[in-house]
Amino acid sequence: MRGRLQQPLVDLLLSSIQIMDWLMGKSKTKPNGKKPPAEEKKQYLEAEFTKVRVVDFDLKELVVLPREIDLNEWLASNTTTFFNLINLQYSTISEFCTGDTCQAMTACNTIYYWYDERGKKTKCTAPQYVDFVMSLVQKLVTDEDIFPTKYGKEFPNSFESLVKKICRYLFHVLAHLYWAHFKETVALDLQGHLNTLYAHFIVFVREFNLVDPKETCIMDDLSEILCAPAPPAPAAPSSPAPSPSSHNHVTER
Ligand SMILES: [Zn+2]
Repeated sequence: MRGRLQQPLVDLLLSSIQIMDWLMGKSKTKPNGKKPPAEEKKQYLEAEFTKVRVVDFDLKELVVLPREIDLNEWLASNTTTFFNLINLQYSTISEFCTGDTCQAMTACNTIYYWYDERGKKTKCTAPQYVDFVMSLVQKLVTDEDIFPTKYGKEFPNSFESLVKKICRYLFHVLAHLYWAHFKETVALDLQGHLNTLYAHFIVFVREFNLVDPKETCIMDDLSEILCAPAPPAPAAPSSPAPSPSSHNHVTER
């Protein structure tokens, strides 16, 4: 049944209360909002940051389909939870993601363009793009014809492709958080939440093939570190250099 969350996921949700606290203005520290220079090293790959998580169990166990649960129910429940958590994580830095600081929706060397319902490509700022994503996903996950919650109601034939579309967009938001707002996330001491959320999300989409690897490859360096079964040994910190072939090259999607 939807809504019956596993205990580790509940722990993760509870830890999000820290984020809520900050949003309610209880935290005294705030980042200065300065943007990292474009060619700056990927700070989020440094061992100091990648070792920080809020949970330390194998996330793979958390995403496999439980025997007694219907696949679509499982996809619906997890997708809705990821939407809520990613929306919450973005909201912690949203005041620093403006039309001035983020004139395009960037992640690594990729610029994401929004495509409207008629397939028209639109150039937009990162906050506009995130707003388009969150509004669309909110509309989908609360549509009883697409994400049914009532007993006996069937999932539509398009359900899996819609879940894939949602996950692709949510990945863009996570990638932008790392690329453009990691410093601010660290200043808020929320990098453990972001790392855990990201790793959980990647393990989930890999398990059910929900996002094309060509889409997620821009963040493979981070995924390999965070999704490793055990945290990297402290004795051998490694921060892989960005692939030389990806330098000075902007991809449009
Ligand atoms: Zn931004």
